[in-house]
Amino acid sequence: MAEEQQEYSEEVIIVGAGPSGLAAAASLSVRGVPSLILERDNCVASLWRNRTYDRVQLHLAKHYCALPHFPHPPSAPTYLPRADFIRYLDGYAARFGVRAALGREVRAARFDAARGLWAVDAVDAATGKSERYVARRLVAAAGENDRMVLPEGLPGMETFPGTVMHAGEYRNGKGFEGKRVLVVGSGNSGMEIAYDLAVAGAAASVVVRSELHLVTKEIWNVAMTLYRYLPVWLIDRIVLLLCAVVLGDTSRYGLRRPAIGPFSMKLQTPAYPVVDVGTYAKIKTGEIQVLPAMKSVDRDVVEFADGKRHPFDAIVFATGYRSTTKQWLKDDGLIGEDGMAKRSYPGHWKGENGLYCAGMVRRGIYGSYEDAELIAEDISNNKKRQSKPDDHEKSN
Ligand SMILES: Cc1cc2nc3c(=O)[nH]c(=O)nc-3n(C[C@H](O)[C@H](O)[C@H](O)COP(=O)(O)OP(=O)(O)OC[C@H]3O[C@@H](n4cnc5c(N)ncnc54)[C@H](O)[C@@H]3O)c2cc1C
Repeated sequence: MAEEQQEYSEEVIIVGAGPSGLAAAASLSVRGVPSLILERDNCVASLWRNRTYDRVQLHLAKHYCALPHFPHPPSAPTYLPRADFIRYLDGYAARFGVRAALGREVRAARFDAARGLWAVDAVDAATGKSERYVARRLVAAAGENDRMVLPEGLPGMETFPGTVMHAGEYRNGKGFEGKRVLVVGSGNSGMEIAYDLAVAGAAASVVVRSELHLVTKEIWNVAMTLYRYLPVWLIDRIVLLLCAVVLGDTSRYGLRRPAIGPFSMKLQTPAYPVVDVGTYAKIKTGEIQVLPAMKSVDRDVVEFADGKRHPFDAIVFATGYRSTTKQWLKDDGLIGEDGMAKRSYPGHWKGENGLYCAGMVRRGIYGSYEDAELIAEDISNNKKRQSKPDDHEKSN
């Protein structure tokens, strides 16, 4: 006979214990609203702990990377290293008494209209048992970067005899000393990993397939500050001028800039400027080689779009991530087919029937902050309205 499944009732369920989920839980907690986070991995901040390389630092100054109600202390470095940010997130969860059920992978969440509740089905990784949680409100905070994306259909890739990994599996240059390593992808991760490899003594090459905006973190922080005061077109001009002075003409080294300005690009497209960590200097000296798109692989030799062929010992694919929210969230209103918020900022965070999403419009940790506060305020106001008997029918 099938065992009857136990049902756990909560006020608010949050899926994901990354910065967005922790921020939502804390923002609710300061408003007196209890919540439970369901987190697939066995820790909070799992992306930062398990899927980022050792060298990574926050690209934005610390005041843009704090979560609600808990700024970074003056003693913290301006650009937080990975270890400090993880420590901050652990401290944040403890400070606000965040309740998280770890090792719980959410497999499905659907609204039960008859009961007016979200039914969330999770699997306990330790026991393999399924569990059901029900709540009036559901916050999807499972991240934009959940599944590692590898290129498909690259001719001959299966014949490559060396090490192949995704950037999410790369930790540091240990073991790559003296090796010829190809990094595929010229976003922030790809460019930084190429630098890390070169510093470790590898012969690093990076595939730069499309145009990109290279900036320094100082220039980018100027841009972020100006955003409060100036129109975007003017910020674009200032950033490009500063880049021309500081970096010169990057196209001479294979890094062509797109027609759209860097700040417009951040706001209007999924692409983000590349914040240089030292890669550019190594490209200029030839320590890091810039190569065009990969065409095919024949054992250890890779052929590129310009027809040239180079041998490699290892390939690191810094080819991005995908959100997996659409796989478990059975709702068509809030999240699009790409797993990101369907509506653009700032109207992206709220759906129907008490459904919300946090951190799903590519606005980084600052976006996690803003979403958490909006969501918590909305839930708290709805709860207050519900507690007034005459307004009960109008509640969300
Ligand atoms: C290498 C790297 C560097 C970055 N640097 C910066 C930076 O400098 N500044 C910045 O603002 N942003 C940066 N980002 C973006 C960064 O991912 C986010 O800003 C931040 O981690 C987003 O937090 P989040 O909580 O929305 O998502 P995540 O941190 O991805 O957390 C989502 C959580 O949900 C869990 N989860 C997923 N699916 C399920 C499920 N089905 N059931 C239960 N749990 C689930 C995951 O295990 C994870 O713990 C960087 C990203 C990467 C990969």
